[in-house]
Amino acid sequence: MMEDEREEDLWDLLRQAMRLSEDDFERLKRGGLQLNYLRVCPRKLWLFAHQVRMEADAEAVALGRLTHERAYRDRPRRSLILENLIAIDVLEDEGTLLEVKHAPTFVEAARLQLRYYLYFLARRGVKRRGELRFPRQRRREVVELDAAAIAEVEAALAEAARITALPTPPAVPWTPACRRCAYAPLCWG
Ligand code: SF4
Repeated sequence: MMEDEREEDLWDLLRQAMRLSEDDFERLKRGGLQLNYLRVCPRKLWLFAHQVRMEADAEAVALGRLTHERAYRDRPRRSLILENLIAIDVLEDEGTLLEVKHAPTFVEAARLQLRYYLYFLARRGVKRRGELRFPRQRRREVVELDAAAIAEVEAALAEAARITALPTPPAVPWTPACRRCAYAPLCWG
């Protein structure tokens, strides 16, 4: 079988794995950081989605922004805003989606965020691979969209919608994530 045909078959399988209708996706889609927060803490997701903003002061956020700005400055990078909703970085020489993180502390959250970007693009007919990069740790990880990733993203979108529709932020127990969370004064102060 030719390489192109194999690619096309794979692409068909991915499309078939998508369970959300176009209408449901339009209703459920949201910024990528919200899916990241879903994995870190559902309360954090709720607060952020309801425009409660305390991140600007947080040291962790400032460090993350700095790492992102400084990383791979020698490579041709393009920042894209899609549908006024998600911001992605593309390494132009590879066509790879790049997600740079300051630390791998919440790596599952970062994986979900990147899988969501790949899913978002796939729904728009654009197939890409992604890479999580942790420049300070000299670590990188390839993230690709497969049937399991599609199921995870669609379940996460539904779960994020359920949580953000709650009338008040969900009560959650203290976790190590609270230690460096910008919302800690609000939750535990
Ligand atoms: S302080 Fe803890 S409970 Fe509150 S939003 Fe942050 S991670 Fe969640």
